[in-house]
Amino acid sequence: MQFDYDDQNIFAKILRGEIPNQTVFENDHALAFRDINEQAPVHVLVIPKGPYVSLDHFARDATAAEQIAFFDAVAEVCRIEQVDTGFRAIANARADGVQEVPHFHLHILGGRNMGRMLEPAT
Ligand code: 5GP
Repeated sequence: MQFDYDDQNIFAKILRGEIPNQTVFENDHALAFRDINEQAPVHVLVIPKGPYVSLDHFARDATAAEQIAFFDAVAEVCRIEQVDTGFRAIANARADGVQEVPHFHLHILGGRNMGRMLEPAT
């Protein structure tokens, strides 16, 4: 699989400071910010600062330091947002995953019961 990163995607622009965001947490290799179209009382996106298109790209090619920092950011978001009763983490990838923004991001959703994971297949 070849991953071609488009540096004009909206999250690349957020990382360059060209578009504002509501930052929840940041470290050397990751940024967490509120989704502009919140689907739950807590809806935070965690993204690596490096140019990774999708979860499988990040898992394959990110350095150990980038992967550790990313999951440190996930832990910090869960702590800051106090999702003690639970949450859902979603990573959409490519066309079948209905990924809108081609920069890897993990949705952290919570603050209410999130219901069943998927609609029944049609
Ligand atoms: P995807 O479908 O790619 O998994 O999710 C992309 C998410 O990015 C969507 O939930 C959408 O609301 C969010 N989003 C799109 N543009 C922006 C933006 O400019 N700022 C923020 N904070 N979120 C955005």
